[in-house]
Amino acid sequence: MWQAEVRVDLDAIRENVTRLRAGTGAELMAVVKGDGYGHGMLPVARAALDAGATYLGVCTLDEALTLRRAGLTVPVLAWLLAPGLPLHEGVAADIELSAASLDLLREIVEAGRRAGRPARVHLKLDTGLSRGGATAADWPALAEAAAKAQADGEIEVVGLWSHFAYADAPGHPSVDKQLAAFQEGVAVAERLGITPQYRHMANSAAILTRPDAHFDLVRAGIAMYGLSPVPGEKYGLRPAMTARARVILSKRVPAGEGVSYGHTYVTERETTLAVVPLGYADGVPRHASNAGPIELGGRVRRIAGRVCMDQVVLDCGDDPVAAGDVATLFGAGEHGEPTADDWAEAVGTINYEIVTRFGSTRVPRIYD
Ligand code: PLP
Repeated sequence: MWQAEVRVDLDAIRENVTRLRAGTGAELMAVVKGDGYGHGMLPVARAALDAGATYLGVCTLDEALTLRRAGLTVPVLAWLLAPGLPLHEGVAADIELSAASLDLLREIVEAGRRAGRPARVHLKLDTGLSRGGATAADWPALAEAAAKAQADGEIEVVGLWSHFAYADAPGHPSVDKQLAAFQEGVAVAERLGITPQYRHMANSAAILTRPDAHFDLVRAGIAMYGLSPVPGEKYGLRPAMTARARVILSKRVPAGEGVSYGHTYVTERETTLAVVPLGYADGVPRHASNAGPIELGGRVRRIAGRVCMDQVVLDCGDDPVAAGDVATLFGAGEHGEPTADDWAEAVGTINYEIVTRFGSTRVPRIYD
């Protein structure tokens, strides 16, 4: 018998990957960083590859090495690399590395020497997100250094890439601007003799709304998990994650009772309270206090009072609620339960954060 669980429907992941691939002629990179957005990096990676993804994308070297240790042999790109990491281990494991600065490129060249093989590199251009990526001013020097290292047989440039700031707001003028800046950056690199196999820029939102940004490879994160990157749109995706728990105690209390720490909720009349064993240690945001929606007994109720580390309380009125009943925090929404989008709205965040929080916790993840 279970107490709380996060269920992940791998068929939904496969279906979403198939749907995304159908809308593009490009290869698809499954973005499985952040423990697969909370869904479990390895099972998601395998499901995505089953459905035709050809690349895996992660942030850290450790994430990439974990994929290799699990026996996955497809191309893996890691893009968030601090100075001084053991990059030679990545090169030896045939992990592709992103470079956005001359310093990092030098480290990658050195890592290739140590590993005894040329490192496979994706050069990253900042086209307007002002996060990772070389600025347009620094780009020619980076591309030139990469061209020289490639000519010397020290690296192989496999990709040129960038990332959107505003793809989740279709029609926003910055999308066109970034696309134009990327094309200009690609042209600069090509003039310097760099013509790699992959140019890539599209995240989920751009996959769904900007076919002109697909290039050779698209990077699918949130849409693969069945959630829409564009608020208010669904795109026929199927959410893969359900979070639920069984009531551990239900009890009648009189009117005027303060509920949970700080008594921020007070019962208006005699009522039944149900204790649900999931709290902020499990991924429930504390900001969901008096706000987070939970389905119990066929009705969606708001959390009564503060979210605790391990539990929340629901005010169920006179509904017949008993210990052992299943309370669903969020799921696909097909049975009247809230969705990750409902939680994001209630808490003032994005669906990405909701599902990612529910990964890597003490709550068992069950795969359907
Ligand atoms: N590419 C990069 C560089 C990212 O950081 C991410 C995730 O944030 C993605 C692609 C996937 O984005 P999304 O989940 O919106 O598809």
